[in-house]
Amino acid sequence: MQIYKVGGAVRDRLLGLPVTDIDWVVVGASAEQMQALGYRPVGADFPVFLHPRSGDEYALARTERKNGRGYAGFTFHASPSVTLEEDLARRDLTINAMAEDEHGQLIDPYNGQRDLQQRVLRHVAPAFAEDPLRVLRVARFAARYASLGFTVAAPTLELMRQLSASGELQALTAERCWKEISRALMETSPQVFIDVLQACGALAQLIPELAPHWGPERAQVLARAAAERQPLPVRWACLLHGLGNPVQPVCERLKVPRECQALAQLLERYLGTAQRAASLAPGELVELLQHFDVLRRPQRLEAFLAAATLLQHGPFPGAERLRQAARAMQAVDAQPLIAQGFKGQALGDALQQARLQAVGATR
Ligand code: ATP
Ligand code: MG
Repeated sequence: MQIYKVGGAVRDRLLGLPVTDIDWVVVGASAEQMQALGYRPVGADFPVFLHPRSGDEYALARTERKNGRGYAGFTFHASPSVTLEEDLARRDLTINAMAEDEHGQLIDPYNGQRDLQQRVLRHVAPAFAEDPLRVLRVARFAARYASLGFTVAAPTLELMRQLSASGELQALTAERCWKEISRALMETSPQVFIDVLQACGALAQLIPELAPHWGPERAQVLARAAAERQPLPVRWACLLHGLGNPVQPVCERLKVPRECQALAQLLERYLGTAQRAASLAPGELVELLQHFDVLRRPQRLEAFLAAATLLQHGPFPGAERLRQAARAMQAVDAQPLIAQGFKGQALGDALQQARLQAVGATR
């Protein structure tokens, strides 16, 4: 059997980028041989194994055929007779379809190296259209490598357009969509991800609420969020802000994690109130900050202020007052009240009073 390094590790080494995880392909071996060597299968009927020590993924060379909708509609054919070239042919992009043998020799049947040099994201074969996830993957790679000058090849974008128009994207599960979206939003040029999805019509399928509102201004906010290395909830909340549609249905449909959904909703509901923080009464401030769950989740207020600042294109007027009030609330200590014998509801009420006073005193 022969083992080759494949995919991202080969690509990123040629680009001179750091390589974190390595994918391997094994040619001329059976699942039984792999297990006999100590490799652990990742699933019962998927020809991928984990190395007993490194934990790297080793996949048996395979071909794929589509026989139904979505990801489940794939059949794999893995056998010792499948060649390296056949395995590389099922991959999404030419730059992802290169392999390296144990001597560091490059195997590049689909001109991945040429496309790397020309900075082109190009599909390997027409079978690209068999997996709608590839639309998201290509857009994500475009977001990752845009700063190096990469763009999507016109024929590839055309295939993505056809895939989007076919409605096949609807067959993707929320989990797989969100995994791609969340990874793409954390890339260096997340706005390029949305641009590419918009250009091929996928945005209208995946986030129809956003598609009519996507434009240069929103793209700029997202680009600045990335330049500031803001965390995912900030980027997500900025993306969805001010669509004229509630964010909750979008978040539920995509099964967005709690922190992303919470921040998008806080921005939707309280941006206006927060802006007036300096003129709010202590009771209103305490109530507002309790919506932020500021005692248990102090980072949420900071994320909110980061998003608000990005959306305002400048300093957020209420920021200092909100931080000051939050600090005052956080500084209230329950211990003296407990020592005085307060408990249960009475303790809750007394704490609330103490927080109101503390916020009032910082004015
Ligand atoms: P990353 O740096 O994000 O890990 P990667 O290229 O290694 O990028 P993986 O998701 O780890 O991406 O997949 C490894 C390789 O498997 C890819 O380079 C590609 O050749 C192939 N691949 C993965 N997913 C698909 C897919 N949906 N369709 C076609 N080929 C795929
Ligand atoms: Mg990888």
